[in-house]
Amino acid sequence: MSHTLFISDLHLSEEQTHITQLFLSFSRNTAPQADALYILGDLFEYWAGDDDRSTPFHQQIIGAIRTVSQQGTAVFIMHGNRDFLMDRQLAQDSLATLLPDPTLIDLYGTPTLLTHGDAMCTDDVQYQAFRKQVRDTAWRNNFLAQPLIQRKAQIEQLRKMSEEQKQTKSNDIMDVNLTAVADLFRSQHYPRMIHGHTHRQKHHRHEVDGKTCERWVLGDWHETGNMLRCDAAGCGFQTIM
Ligand code: MN
Repeated sequence: MSHTLFISDLHLSEEQTHITQLFLSFSRNTAPQADALYILGDLFEYWAGDDDRSTPFHQQIIGAIRTVSQQGTAVFIMHGNRDFLMDRQLAQDSLATLLPDPTLIDLYGTPTLLTHGDAMCTDDVQYQAFRKQVRDTAWRNNFLAQPLIQRKAQIEQLRKMSEEQKQTKSNDIMDVNLTAVADLFRSQHYPRMIHGHTHRQKHHRHEVDGKTCERWVLGDWHETGNMLRCDAAGCGFQTIM
């Protein structure tokens, strides 16, 4: 039956071999049966720039995505906060289309808004300031002008700092802000919403301006993978083992 799959927050890295195996098996067995596969951010634990795509590990992942595309499944990739430097060359190699965040699609007749989700975490003021900085074109060009090895070292530093900061931040601060959620629903004429980032897989219903809006939050990948499967009848979470 005609269906579309959504995944996010795999945080693939060479060290996480189990998650890599899950993704490769998902790419071989599950994804090619779908009309489309949407990867809604944080596919990689980090992405230092497209010139890092030639490592054997990255080639393996890119090759897996390309094979999915070649079998007729349209693959779309959105940036997450970890891999916001993914660019055209990565998309070209994997035969995928990069999507702006947010993107509104027609999913079997239902307007559906796709976003990574981090932009709605407005309570985390510190993170939003960082997000604004690294998405600035001048910052980006400056960063990418450095040698790859230096970029990787800087990212390692940032990851350490972010891990330390997480220890002191409350759970509420790291979740989406419900006013930001309502604002986004309103600005896009109350679509269904699908996002990742918070790793809190759940199906929410919101009342916004008297309208009932659905929000599907994708789960991250650990011992098992998580996906959302949608068809003309609706959506549902499925575990990938
Ligand atoms: Mn994220």
